[in-house]
Amino acid sequence: MSKTTTGFRGLFISGDQEMGLLTEGEVLSWEETRAHAKHVQQHGIQQFINLYRNLKDRPNDELKWGDEIEYIIVHFNEAQQRAQLALRAHDLLPKLQQKELEAEEKGEKNPDLPALWRPEMATYMVESSPGRPFRCNFEDFTKVEGNMRARREEVQKLLMANEAILSVSAFPRLGCPGFTFPPALTEPNNPNSILRSLFFPDEAIFSGHSRMRTILGNLCKRRGRKPFVNVPLFKDKNTSENVEEDFAALGDDGEVQAVAKAGHIVMDSCGHGMGCCCLQVTFQARNLAEARFLYDQLAIMCPFMMTLTAGAPMYQGYISDVDCRWNILAACTDDRTEEELGLKPLKDGFRLIPKSRYGSVDHYLSPEGDQYNDVPAVINQEYFDKLVEAGIDAQLSKHIAKLFIREPLILYSERIHQDDEKDSNHFENIQSTNWQSLRFKPPPVDADIGWRIEFRPMETQITDFENAAFVIFVVLLTRTIVSLKLNLLVPMSMVEENMAVAQQRNAVSEGRLWFRQQILTGADGSQQSNKIVQMTVNEVFNGKDAEEGHFEGLVPLVEHYLSSVDLDVHTRQTLQSYLHCISKKASGELLTTAGWMRKFVLEHPDYKQDSRVSEIINYDLMKRCRDLSQGLTHDATLLPEFIPPLSLNCQERLASGDLSGMVDCFK
Ligand code: ADP
Ligand code: MG
Ligand code: MG
Repeated sequence: MSKTTTGFRGLFISGDQEMGLLTEGEVLSWEETRAHAKHVQQHGIQQFINLYRNLKDRPNDELKWGDEIEYIIVHFNEAQQRAQLALRAHDLLPKLQQKELEAEEKGEKNPDLPALWRPEMATYMVESSPGRPFRCNFEDFTKVEGNMRARREEVQKLLMANEAILSVSAFPRLGCPGFTFPPALTEPNNPNSILRSLFFPDEAIFSGHSRMRTILGNLCKRRGRKPFVNVPLFKDKNTSENVEEDFAALGDDGEVQAVAKAGHIVMDSCGHGMGCCCLQVTFQARNLAEARFLYDQLAIMCPFMMTLTAGAPMYQGYISDVDCRWNILAACTDDRTEEELGLKPLKDGFRLIPKSRYGSVDHYLSPEGDQYNDVPAVINQEYFDKLVEAGIDAQLSKHIAKLFIREPLILYSERIHQDDEKDSNHFENIQSTNWQSLRFKPPPVDADIGWRIEFRPMETQITDFENAAFVIFVVLLTRTIVSLKLNLLVPMSMVEENMAVAQQRNAVSEGRLWFRQQILTGADGSQQSNKIVQMTVNEVFNGKDAEEGHFEGLVPLVEHYLSSVDLDVHTRQTLQSYLHCISKKASGELLTTAGWMRKFVLEHPDYKQDSRVSEIINYDLMKRCRDLSQGLTHDATLLPEFIPPLSLNCQERLASGDLSGMVDCFK
């Protein structure tokens, strides 16, 4: 057994499995974890069967929902005109989690806190969600941005004057020598190093809990080598064909040099992708059937929302030719062996696996969606048979049997033996390390929580206004889909194509994505046309009136839905400003975060048309992001001219620093 102990007394939650103080025992070595893989899978399947049997008929849950925002902590060095990622999570999290821990120790359920704080992969990251989920009382929508502001301020007040908490997805110089503060050394030739990366130091992995280090280490161990990712470089006038990095000077023994492609930015660790921030929304459906229906509808929305929230255009000090982090994350967390990749003959018990465990969902779950399931599903047949035998329909069984082709990446000594009637830890273990664009979450065994969907493809935005706009848009869209009985289904293979297009540079203006020409349905659920066409993001969100057909547009449909709801003036104005922002980002009148960052760099006096983001450009860019996020400056190319103020009560609370009563106070 390894000597790693948890050390960090904080809360760690992933999936639903680990609410509470840590009592998992010791983390097992990779060899021991692997030896228990089948045990974890078999019991995980049984636990899902038990959950399903007990909870499939849960009726009429109310809509509850919540967001998750990941942040980076940036250290500004004015003398050197340099911005670095501050390794602060160990120090910040105990303070941020103090009240939650106290409540937990007293056995208080649902304490009244503005935010819940969680560690993320990196020591320069933290993650927040609202203290309690929001409800679908429309007034609650006006509290979201204020709550996000309160969360940001909660951290900012713990920081020094030369530090800032930023919701910037990809730090442009992540992976450059000395990108952390304090600077940390990489150890590519140390066999005990977890990542052995040339660019990303182990010290930047959050080590307050054994989970992150273990998962990252085991991804590499399972794969049998480091991950290598080549990201296409944005080519400017003075960009040289080869990225002239001296890899040997960074300690490369020839391994990275051999895989580095000309005209690309090469990366060699999970840290590169997992070190970027995302914006997620989880919502509870009324029941299982609605959860399956909305899961499918939202699968189609993943590439679209990724395009609109694109915010990761630069890596390792270079401008790339992609706007999103998605494929980088998929590649750098890919733990498939050479056999599973088809590079070597298969050994017993293993199969060819087409995708990384981080990736887009490619299997619809609703009865309506099944006819569009045209992506071959690679499943674990034994578990599929077991699920079907237990009375679970083939379509859902396939989904679970697909997740369960993966092995567990972590296991704790005290979690090996579980009561499958009372625990769902083995199920959650596999579920929570399938990092897909959507997560279909069954109710936990021991809490009054319903069937939920987590929407995961979005990237964080610089301001709370934008983050609120996007999460609220997703929730409002689900209401509109249900209320107006929309049907967005297209063949799954087209969603896959859309995912690839969505990440390309400037996909928002140049991409054409598959979408249904008609999404309204008749009283009997039928549609006049099943035609699927390629549309621009603008057409899909704002509508079009063309010879080949009229399309209403998603924003006008959400507006139409809202017009049927009784809203007070402040709520209507707030929601309108969010919809306006989405509409303008889709039309290109407002830039995406990625587009805005590119423009900032290309126009910077220090930029030499060579695709490089120098220290000083990065410093100025991060400072501008800080000022935008703190409301100290405005930029009309990124944000609407008019942003409605937060409610007076909320402003007073923020000014007084009293952030308790998170839901009720922000009226
Ligand atoms: P993860 O699986 O990513 O660790 P969590 O389960 O901790 O996620 O929570 C994700 C989000 O779900 C949070 O924003 C939280 O507020 C929200 N949430 C919590 N309970 C519910 C619920 N019953 N219904 C909907 N959302 C919920
Ligand atoms: Mg997270
Ligand atoms: Mg999440």
